[in-house]
Parts: sequence; C-alpha cells; structure tokens
Amino acid sequence: MSGDATPVGFTGGTLDRADALRHDPAGILAARRDPAARCLLLAPDWSPLVEDGRLGWTAVPGGGEVALLGLDRGAPRFVALAAAGEGASFRAPSMMAALASLRGGEAATYAAARSLLQWHARHGFCANCGTATAPFRAGWGRACPQCRAEHFPRVDPVVIMIAEHHGRALVGRQAAWPAGRYSALAGFLEPGESVEEAVARETWEETGVRVRNVRYVASQPWPFPHAQLMIACVAVAENDAITLDTHELEDAIWVPRDEVRRILAGEPGAFLPPPPYAIAHTLLERWAAL
Ligand SMILES: [Zn+2]
Repeated sequence: MSGDATPVGFTGGTLDRADALRHDPAGILAARRDPAARCLLLAPDWSPLVEDGRLGWTAVPGGGEVALLGLDRGAPRFVALAAAGEGASFRAPSMMAALASLRGGEAATYAAARSLLQWHARHGFCANCGTATAPFRAGWGRACPQCRAEHFPRVDPVVIMIAEHHGRALVGRQAAWPAGRYSALAGFLEPGESVEEAVARETWEETGVRVRNVRYVASQPWPFPHAQLMIACVAVAENDAITLDTHELEDAIWVPRDEVRRILAGEPGAFLPPPPYAIAHTLLERWAAL
C-alpha cells in the first residue's frame, strides 16, 4: 500500500461550529440576515446538490426554522429544518454517487446536516411528557414548553472491527449487499458496555470467533439512517472456526493480508471491498498496511 491512506469518509469538515453563537439568540438573528449567509441546497430525497465537487448553497429563507451548521470563514451556513420529511430515501444509489463526488471535508458538512435533519424530523415531541417541542440553541436542541426538558441531538455508537488470525482478516457479508461485497463486522454498542467488550460480543455473536487485544483504529460519523458514530477496531482472534449467525450475516470468510492488499488495489479477489467513504474501507486499508 502507498503511504497516502484514503482519508476517513465524512470527516475533515472545515466549518467553525460556533458554539458561542448558538447561545446568542440576537447573534443568530443577525447571522440569518447576514448578506453572506447561505442555506444548504438539498434535493427532495435529501441528496446533496453537488456543484463542481462542492455542496450547493442558496439564500437563507425568510421564514421557517433553520439550524446553524457553522461559519465558513465567518460566513454563516444554515440548513432549513423543513428541507425534507421522514420519507427521505435511505442511501439511494444516486445519493451515494453524489457523495462520492464531493471533495474532502464537504461530505462531513453534509453528514452533520443530514443527521441534524433526521433528528429534528423524529423528535417533534418531548420524550419525557409527550408535548410538542420547539428548536432552540440555533437548531442544536429542542425544548419542551410543558416540562422544561431540553433534548439534544443523539449519536448512536457502533463498533466495526476486523478480527485477525495468523495474518488473515475476518470479513462478512449481509444478504442485502451488492453481490460479492464483504466488509468488516459491525454492531451497536449496548448500554453498560465498553468499546472493547462490544467488539468481542458482536464478533462472537455473528461468527462464533473469540477475540482479545482489541485496539482502536479510527472513527467516523455515519449519517445513515440517522446519526451513528462508527468506532473502528482491530482485534486478535483466538480461533478461526466460523459459526455464522444467519440472521445477521449471509457469509463470513478469512482473507490473507496479501489478498486484501490486491483487492484494495483494484485487482479481482475473494470479495469486492466496501466503498472508500465507508470506514470499513479505511479499516481494511490500515490493517493491510500493518
Ligand atoms: Zn416535556
């Protein structure tokens, strides 16, 4: 592998998130009226409208709720909370193609906007008392007028991992994936678990493989379907006999490091790798370079 690893997808955003401004309602009003302010352009299915590798922007609407994504060299950047409904399509091929065409850092801004929109669309009512809530803090929270509870955008942690056994990586595939595609195993972290424990449990549940020496590699925000944080790890497998959980996986295989390198270089091999914007790609790349 070359020394220039693919950057982790959906990271590298350059907006200043301007936390102090979120707490300043008068400042937010002024930012909204700033002639340099722009609002993120989205298609009805929430796909980004990409222009020359960059996200498209338009004038900020005069009315309606907006969230402040941040400041681009001082210029306010918003997203309209009414941009789309909950029916927005989930990972349409056209959207993934648009994302793949974005230059570095732009996809991070899109991921933040999309996750924020999803959260607002699904959290219109107070989880504490059921009353309709309203956005506050420039769109980075919702407040309940009845019980005064404040709600903030949630992020769901997911562990994604490669178990290694004598120079071979364990990869699996779900039945719904494109033919030939294999990727790192993954699963949601549960309450009461450490990252290391979740990696070991998920690997055991899905493949019957016991792992130890879990090591963190990298993380990635993933805005599908809502707002996940992918926590990528490698671990040492204690055995290589696979007992598949067929509710989770259609297949799982061990692939030697040399073959993973060739596959990532675009040569045919035992499987088709995950796309470059997925952290599973980064994880395979980092593991293959070891
Ligand atoms: Zn309430």
